[in-house]
Amino acid sequence: MCYAIPGKIIELNDRTATVDYYGEQKKAYTDLLEVQIGDYVYAQGGFLIQKVPPKEAHDILSDWEELFFKLQEKDKKLSAHPKNLYERANAIRQQNQGNSCCVHGILEFSNYCRQNCLYCGIRRDNKELTRYRLEIPQILESVKYAYDLGFKALVLQSGEDPYYDDDKLETIVKTIREKYPVLLFVSIGERSLSAYRRLYDAGARGVLMRFETCNPDAYKKVKPDSDLQNRLQLIRDLRKMGYLIVTGFLVGLPGEDKKDILENIKLTASLDAEMFSFGPFIPHPQTPLAETPMPKLTKLLRVIAEARLMNPESRILVTTALETLDQDAARQGLLAGANSLMINVTPPKYRKLYDIYPQRFGTDLDTQEHIDRVIGLLKSLGRAPTDLSV
Ligand code: SAH
Repeated sequence: MCYAIPGKIIELNDRTATVDYYGEQKKAYTDLLEVQIGDYVYAQGGFLIQKVPPKEAHDILSDWEELFFKLQEKDKKLSAHPKNLYERANAIRQQNQGNSCCVHGILEFSNYCRQNCLYCGIRRDNKELTRYRLEIPQILESVKYAYDLGFKALVLQSGEDPYYDDDKLETIVKTIREKYPVLLFVSIGERSLSAYRRLYDAGARGVLMRFETCNPDAYKKVKPDSDLQNRLQLIRDLRKMGYLIVTGFLVGLPGEDKKDILENIKLTASLDAEMFSFGPFIPHPQTPLAETPMPKLTKLLRVIAEARLMNPESRILVTTALETLDQDAARQGLLAGANSLMINVTPPKYRKLYDIYPQRFGTDLDTQEHIDRVIGLLKSLGRAPTDLSV
């Protein structure tokens, strides 16, 4: 995002480029950008997304050079001599993914939902919620705002809102991609494969869709209008289509047992997730699960650490729900194996209304202030907000 570092293309093969960052080489796909050897570029999620004029790239690279190596050193020091589970996971993260940390923006463009998930505050039957939708010009304005703040990867999220039909969604993705060189993820729930095909062709490259739980009975209870196997098949088909997949599950749903968590981690990996996303279930007072207790932070940190030990090369997200559990949760998550973050870029007046659970972290934070905090946190841990490549 804002502090993304440009790299130089040193090799081109078919669909992939080798990009050099101060002597460290990473691979990225070239299908969103026409490039030549020697070009300076930004990459996100393993896709080249923007060329950077050489003079600008040199300036940024020389500004960063000293800091870049200092951060690496700090990260190495902080992850040396692991003693407990979290520290072991952190060391494995460091050895396999270095100090790179992805920072994506998330824009919640509608809280209408035709689903009735028992855990979710924006479920269809929550009649107390004020609903909102952003029209295309408002979405573009929000994307511009995020882009100007420096975001290079954005997630467009909503409830399952049929108001945005296939044409409308295609127009949104196409127009954003024409105007802004950002890597776009969509998180819009279960749609037809042909709808997703159109979005891919319009330039979207990622889908965020959790399977929520691998336990078929628990799934049926909490997502009465959806079928677990269909959702999993959709995720698999989208991966096949070429999308980067961000997926995962809720920790602490009713009926969950220890075995489920391990199975959930395994399932996330088997879906070839580009990024693992799991967060605590947080009860919402206007849902049927209002009285279900939420899990403790330590349980979540353990899930992050176990996922890291089982998948050394994964990107693991510190989710907003995790941050909601404790002021210090992001730092603790990043030290237990996580290496990605998201920042809410929804216009402030709508954030409260995207009320999937109460007291969501970041709802009252000014976006610039949130970015400054995240960058401060990453620097204090020796992490650099750079792409993790393919
Ligand atoms: N409509 C999209 C996006 C759903 S909202 C889709 O179906 O994929 C994004 C995520 O919020 C959900 O996948 C769910 O895991 C999470 N969420 C919903 N209610 C929650 C709650 N009470 N506590 C924690 N996370 C919740």
